[in-house]
Amino acid sequence: MEECIFCKIIEGEIPAKKLYEDDKVIAILDINPANEGHTLVITKKHYKNILEVPPEDLLGIMETGIKIAKAQMKGLEAGGFNIGINTNEVAGQVVEHFHMHIIPRFKGDGLEEWERRGRYNEGKQEEIFGKIQSFLK
Ligand code: AMP
Ligand code: ZN
Repeated sequence: MEECIFCKIIEGEIPAKKLYEDDKVIAILDINPANEGHTLVITKKHYKNILEVPPEDLLGIMETGIKIAKAQMKGLEAGGFNIGINTNEVAGQVVEHFHMHIIPRFKGDGLEEWERRGRYNEGKQEEIFGKIQSFLK
């Protein structure tokens, strides 16, 4: 994974503001934050995205995310937070090494949530429901 920027950070080849480390993950400040304190929880192993992360590791990763979020709330007096995992280019994933964004939120910070784009046309909701549900049986 020579060209992976997060592997290089984990190897110590590129500097980062490391807030936390355990045997599975590191947490660093995002270099281009949505809000000050925006943190990334990054797996030490190179997984392309969440689909490659062993399911048994996910709880620990989420627990670390919550730990970071609580520290952001206390330390920065954030009112809340957003947790985000971009998966694949179409969803905005730029760095192809699994990471979870923890973004502290402040009243009136002006960050936009996902745009909501209206309602289903007649019959469309049933169609979409069926297409997803057929893979959950
Ligand atoms: P994503 O769009 O989910 O792939 O997010 C990748 C994130 O990594 C972006 O928010 C970047 O600002 C962040 N990032 C890229 N390079 C670095 C770096 N060297 N140190 C810290 N954060 C970085
Ligand atoms: Zn990597």
